[in-house]
Amino acid sequence: MSRLRNVFRCSRCGLAVHFDYFGQKPPFNKAIVLLEEAYILKDPFAPDDQHLTLGGHCSLCKDPVCVGQLCSLFYTKRFCLSCVKARIDEFPDEIKKEVEGKDIDAIQKFD
Ligand SMILES: [Zn+2]
Ligand SMILES: [Zn+2]
Repeated sequence: MSRLRNVFRCSRCGLAVHFDYFGQKPPFNKAIVLLEEAYILKDPFAPDDQHLTLGGHCSLCKDPVCVGQLCSLFYTKRFCLSCVKARIDEFPDEIKKEVEGKDIDAIQKFD
């Protein structure tokens, strides 16, 4: 019997992968409370309590974005790089430096 799996799709790069859980407290690891509501995939190659964070939602535009370096960054909350670039003056110097080093418009699209 096949089961429909939930699919997380990054709004920037188009990466589409299934996820097991969305939220802050993965039910398969009670010890973990995430810093954000995130799309979580249980790691099929690791022991039970391992998981991968696939992405979350930009706290400004609410778009789903993956954790890829050209897609989003986490600075107290998750921000997509489009929003970071649009409001770069509101971010501290360390973030500015990080973003300026990236050619974020040359993002590789998956689709
Ligand atoms: Zn992405
Ligand atoms: Zn955004």
